[in-house]
Amino acid sequence: MNSEFKVALSHDIDRTRKTYQYFTKPLKAIKNGNLKALKNQLYSFFRKNNYWTFQRIIEIENEYAVKSSFYFLNESIKWDIFRPDSYKLALGRYNINSPKIQELIRWLDRNGWEIGVHGSYNSFNSLELLKKEKLTLERIVGHEVIGIRQHYLNLDDSTWSLQYEAGFKYDSSLGFAGSKGFGDRIGFKDNKHLPFYPLNNEFLEIPLVLMDANFLQVENKWEELDRVISLCKKHDAILVINFHNHVFNTREFPGFEEAYIKIIQKCISENGKFFTLGEIYETYSKKV
Ligand SMILES: [Zn+2]
Repeated sequence: MNSEFKVALSHDIDRTRKTYQYFTKPLKAIKNGNLKALKNQLYSFFRKNNYWTFQRIIEIENEYAVKSSFYFLNESIKWDIFRPDSYKLALGRYNINSPKIQELIRWLDRNGWEIGVHGSYNSFNSLELLKKEKLTLERIVGHEVIGIRQHYLNLDDSTWSLQYEAGFKYDSSLGFAGSKGFGDRIGFKDNKHLPFYPLNNEFLEIPLVLMDANFLQVENKWEELDRVISLCKKHDAILVINFHNHVFNTREFPGFEEAYIKIIQKCISENGKFFTLGEIYETYSKKV
């Protein structure tokens, strides 16, 4: 029997244009002796909109009649010449209040996609930043924003309470982050299969299950996906997927877009039903 399960597609919008990557990526390609990657990097010098892939994402999702959640980052970290770790965070950022970004956010919101906050790097323990980022996005869409996922999946003991205090209704940051030594992992972190209430109130954690770069690195990834789907069916868990917008640049991220499409097709053939994370939250809130 091909039983149903739930799928929630999402996109963390870390950056909308290429900045420092024009220099770091070709250097990395040279270091790795990867001539093909180097060629593709040099090619991108002559193209605009390398990370502006939104039309393509919308096109793919329209083709399969599915909707996703978009989490927009509002990074406020300052560039500090003496702190190399600030370079990547500060120089790559975009202005959420620019007319082009606002127009994109409003268009997605009006047309049935969900808009949420991608909590900035230092916001995981800052009520002030969480409140500010929520309010900024709410001013753009003109209504309440209920969901958040933290950049780099930064979580500590205080994050969920602070998110709740800031007015969020759900978080989706519990998952395997690529940068913390679990680069090849997909699945349920800490064996938390089901969304749960970490604060014993209505605030819901919806675990993240599959992230783009992690998935691409997994050996036997399609067998692994089968395993995860069967776990979703067994536990009535939700297959929460995150594909960043920049990986839809097929020249620089070969195989990613193809994998995203194949995952959607696989879920459809396995009787997956698609929801935004906001809709998942609504279903849960009705159960309580
Ligand atoms: Zn991020």
